[in-house]
Amino acid sequence: MGNAKKRVLSGMQPTGSLHIGHYLGVLTNYASLQPDYDCFFMIADWHSMTVFYPEFRKAHSFIPGIVSDWLAAGIDPEKAVIFLQSNVPMHSELQLILSMYTPVSWLERNPTYKEKQEIIDRDIDSHGFLGYPVLQAADILLYNAELVPIGEDQIPHLELTREIARRFNHFNVKDNDIFMLPKPLLSRFPKVLGTDGQKMSKSYGNTIMLTETPEKLDQKIRKMKTDTNRVRRNDPGNPENCPVYSYYDFFAEDKKSEISAACRNASIGCIECKKLIIERMNNVLDPFRTRKNEVDKNPDIVADILRDGARKAKDAAGETMDRVRDGMGFHF
Ligand code: SF4
Repeated sequence: MGNAKKRVLSGMQPTGSLHIGHYLGVLTNYASLQPDYDCFFMIADWHSMTVFYPEFRKAHSFIPGIVSDWLAAGIDPEKAVIFLQSNVPMHSELQLILSMYTPVSWLERNPTYKEKQEIIDRDIDSHGFLGYPVLQAADILLYNAELVPIGEDQIPHLELTREIARRFNHFNVKDNDIFMLPKPLLSRFPKVLGTDGQKMSKSYGNTIMLTETPEKLDQKIRKMKTDTNRVRRNDPGNPENCPVYSYYDFFAEDKKSEISAACRNASIGCIECKKLIIERMNNVLDPFRTRKNEVDKNPDIVADILRDGARKAKDAAGETMDRVRDGMGFHF
């Protein structure tokens, strides 16, 4: 392959505009991987169809905004291949091939299959939803990705990809295995709390969006709940029970111990404490907003990046599909 860097593949579904949970949990991780790995970052629009198929046009409308968020967060098309899954039809071809090697029982056993059916308030009783781990396997194996950045809780999902790859290799024995077995690149995906103290999620209505103006950010943080024991200014508090304090981890780590002590002995009030974190958040978000504005002024930037990414992704996917077809005996 002529590239000494290990290849990494990761994807994000276009299910809505991005919030600071995505920024802190995923985008900063993507940006940090770029110097050391051969990165392929995919907008997984076919995956979003499993849930969003009745309103797929809407899911697709999020794509330009997501790409400009990625760029504003420092993901660089000169250092990583940024592409849209549906622009590379080989994902679908490999999914079909791998689906023949995947016993249905493996898919039914998939813990998220049952879990999601219970929590998602949509009709997802489809062949596509049951088979989404096969599409996931195709995404990873198509690029011969050696590493997949995941949290510890996602290891069983990657194991299913490895099982499918092993089974395919077993039935299509050549001098070398056709698929390399991908390994996890264990990454820390911090749980970011929303304005109500629950996990930040659009479905809870507790998000701070990346596109929030400084005024809106100010309003949201000022209204945030804090430690409920701090009713009056001189009540001592416990920062561990306060979602505002959790933002100090990401935006003002240098101030954490000082704020923790001041909260516990009531030498600081919540208004002052929130003011400081708002200022720190704006220090991080201001350059993001500026870069995003620049990209959004010129929609051709996103279109060009996706076109160029599709070309590079197709080249890499094409090499794999040549090996797959050859290994299986598709010679005519
Ligand atoms: S002082 Fe800060 S950490 Fe303590 S409860 Fe108020 S907002 Fe939370």
